Amino acid sequence: GSTVGILGGGQLGRMLALAGSALGYRFVTLDPTPDAPCGQVARQITAAYDDREAARELAGQADVITYEFENVDAGVADMLMRESYVPQGSRLLYTTQHRLREKRAVEAAGARVAPYTEIGSERELREAAARFGLPCVLKTATGGYDGKGQFVIRSEEEIPEAYRLLSRAGTELVLEQFIRFEKELSVIAARSPRGETSVFPPAENIHVDNILHLSIVPARIGGDVRREAERLALRIAEGLGVIGLIAVEMFLTADGELFVNELAPRPHNSGHYTMEACRTSQFEQHVRAICNLPLGDTSLLTPVVMVNVLGEHVEPLLARMARPDETAAKLGVAPKVHLYGKREAKSKRKMGHINVLAPDVDAALKWIAETTIWKV
Ligand code: ATP
Ligand code: MG
Ligand code: MG
Repeated sequence: GSTVGILGGGQLGRMLALAGSALGYRFVTLDPTPDAPCGQVARQITAAYDDREAARELAGQADVITYEFENVDAGVADMLMRESYVPQGSRLLYTTQHRLREKRAVEAAGARVAPYTEIGSERELREAAARFGLPCVLKTATGGYDGKGQFVIRSEEEIPEAYRLLSRAGTELVLEQFIRFEKELSVIAARSPRGETSVFPPAENIHVDNILHLSIVPARIGGDVRREAERLALRIAEGLGVIGLIAVEMFLTADGELFVNELAPRPHNSGHYTMEACRTSQFEQHVRAICNLPLGDTSLLTPVVMVNVLGEHVEPLLARMARPDETAAKLGVAPKVHLYGKREAKSKRKMGHINVLAPDVDAALKWIAETTIWKV
């Protein structure tokens, strides 16, 4: 069997390795934290992500290399390409590492994004904010996640502070018009080297404090919106020449328009629902795509709500798991727990998730509301 190397050993790498092991692949991961979530289920090389020698060792042990985050150092990416096989290529990383390049690529693929402009000075920010109107959102072009690296500007007085805080990151800045969305959706598409594509059912996502809280599937949207969201994700997969997965985050407005927010060229938190709720999980599909196996069937088997387990939820969850779950029995739901094996349950840290399989999404939402783990 072949060995797959994963740059990054977090939960995404772990779930990739678990899914790929079932297909007979072996896994090796590179991560700076000893005993990382992926390292517990695969061989681990413990070193910094930008350590060239360690990356060379990874390349030496792997027949195929992938990554679980997009901020891969360009030098390391080049080296891995020379010394091993990186089917996703460096172009996809180059595009999705940088919000401006990503937005241009999304537009070139024929999808809409919120009006945006590059910002090089406080004066430019002032002028652009006047053009877009308030509120608007200032973001660092690189490195942001979970809402870090962005500032929602709600009044003119906040402009100097927003500029000062974000320009400290030392990357380009992007200003976006604020989209008054009705829902946030995400769609994960896959494409393989033989050009086969597939798309998973759209998820309706609810964030709390900028961190994903729930993914609801089927999303509570009409058939036209669903088809359009799937079409956009497939167009982006084709347009960017994606190999592997591409997760497409979108805003849906009241008049039924879809704007693409951002992309991720990897498994995505909003796709964890696929693990039990689809015939093929996003992790299996990614392994299939990068290994050029035929893609799997993405059909939905059951309604599902995925709820994230953060550090503060671990103790109440473990207490809940130790007792019979009468609420689940009453509602006819099956909560499938996934924990990532992280030792320190720090507040806001992603420790696991639960896929609540249910006869309909309302029953799953009711279980989440009646379980005293999430206090929102
Ligand atoms: P992620 O953890 O998803 O990578 P991120 O830090 O890269 O997050 P974004 O996804 O760009 O940030 O934005 C985080 C959230 O902020 C979005 O999910 C959305 O709720 C809100 N948001 C971002 N941009 C806009 C916008 N232009 N208009 C309205 N809301 C926005
Ligand atoms: Mg992001
Ligand atoms: Mg996002």
